[in-house]
Amino acid sequence: MYMIKNAKIIENKELKEVTILIEAGKIKQIVSGNNIPTSVEKAIDAKEHVVFPGFIDPHVHFNDPGFTEREDFETGTRSAAAGGITTVIDMPCTSIPPVTNGPNFDYKLNIVKPKAYVDFAFWGGVTPEQVESGEYKKSLKELKDRGIVGVKFYTISGMELYPRMSVPNMDKAFRLMKELNLVCAIHAEDYYLVDYYSHLMQEMRREDPESWSEGRTYEAEPEAIWSVVGITEKVGNKLHIVHLSTKEGLNVIRWAKTQGLNVSTETCPQYLVFTTEDFKKMGSILKIAPPLRKEEDREELWRGLKDGSIDFICTDHAAGKYPEGKSFPNIWKNYAGIPGTQLAVPMMLHYGYHKERLTLGEIQKLMSENTAKRYGLYPQKGIIKVRSDADFTIVDLDKEWVVEPSKLESKGKYSPLTGKKLKGQIYMTIVRGEVVYKENKGVVGTKGYGKLIKNRIK
Ligand SMILES: [Zn+2]
Repeated sequence: MYMIKNAKIIENKELKEVTILIEAGKIKQIVSGNNIPTSVEKAIDAKEHVVFPGFIDPHVHFNDPGFTEREDFETGTRSAAAGGITTVIDMPCTSIPPVTNGPNFDYKLNIVKPKAYVDFAFWGGVTPEQVESGEYKKSLKELKDRGIVGVKFYTISGMELYPRMSVPNMDKAFRLMKELNLVCAIHAEDYYLVDYYSHLMQEMRREDPESWSEGRTYEAEPEAIWSVVGITEKVGNKLHIVHLSTKEGLNVIRWAKTQGLNVSTETCPQYLVFTTEDFKKMGSILKIAPPLRKEEDREELWRGLKDGSIDFICTDHAAGKYPEGKSFPNIWKNYAGIPGTQLAVPMMLHYGYHKERLTLGEIQKLMSENTAKRYGLYPQKGIIKVRSDADFTIVDLDKEWVVEPSKLESKGKYSPLTGKKLKGQIYMTIVRGEVVYKENKGVVGTKGYGKLIKNRIK
């Protein structure tokens, strides 16, 4: 047994000084102030810093096995530990084979488990072929039994092994997902609009960053969201829209919520900090899909986080080979993605808390509690409470530091924030009672310590 002393936790929107007792990886007791039981000798000093329940990144692409030249589970989870993320949820599509049935799930688990520094959960997948052959009925059940948090679907896909789903196939899959009580997560960009405008840009021989944004046209997101919300309205399944980027898309989700549909959404720090104007100036380092949008979209996303219409924050962590993958003069040839897990918490502290857009309590909900609840990890994760896992992100709110790509644990050593001074940094990351990252020492956890966390919703 040991304790974390001089800790400040958020309780009823106020900071409260406590001592947290930890035994066997779980929270054993929380006592006010420094009323420390004399029997406990070992202590970690939180030095009056704010202690959050471990943060969760519910949308990462760690590419393992299959695309490990870009990222693997070791470098991915090390970047999570250094970024104060105690649980990551990995996408099903950026590994070979994709996680589309029980054996594929087991295969990936065996490969990634020995590399993990923090806890992890998996997204599952369904392909159009599986729906058409009827095999999805068996494979989805296998995945549900293994604890996936939900299934990711694409309305548009550049991945050979994980193609986009048509509306009729999604309709079928959503019905089974409702029976299994699983979240259907959608990458929402309308295929036909993006296909049309992307070809148009290339016919015009456009190679500038803006042509990527114009190709993946604005309307594609709200259009695709309308389409899947329409299915959900009929079927009554749980729907989640990933990496939301537009104001219009958010308004569709707001409407769906007022209709009582079981719909949630997330956005990423990159959509909250950068716009098309930055993309024009900085080029391919900010190439992502969906692309960055306008100032008014960015501001509306902040409002959505504040008013609760956006449920949580994720990073869509996707590291490209750098500089090779991001150095073509033609924007269309560059890799789309940013490694985000290590910087998400500092970005939310700097641009959210210090710019007075969000309170610490709101950040706690958006980066831990709401996520854990939606994906069935609660109350094991997502809260500081007796019997919950002893996962903590301790932050130094006032620490000022400069972003340096060489300090990133990811294989993708690049960031659009290079050279930027941020206020707020991770002081310590603790996973089930074990310190995995410490300020000034770096990642101190053990490779293979991280374990699979299962969705508990039956
Ligand atoms: Zn993604």
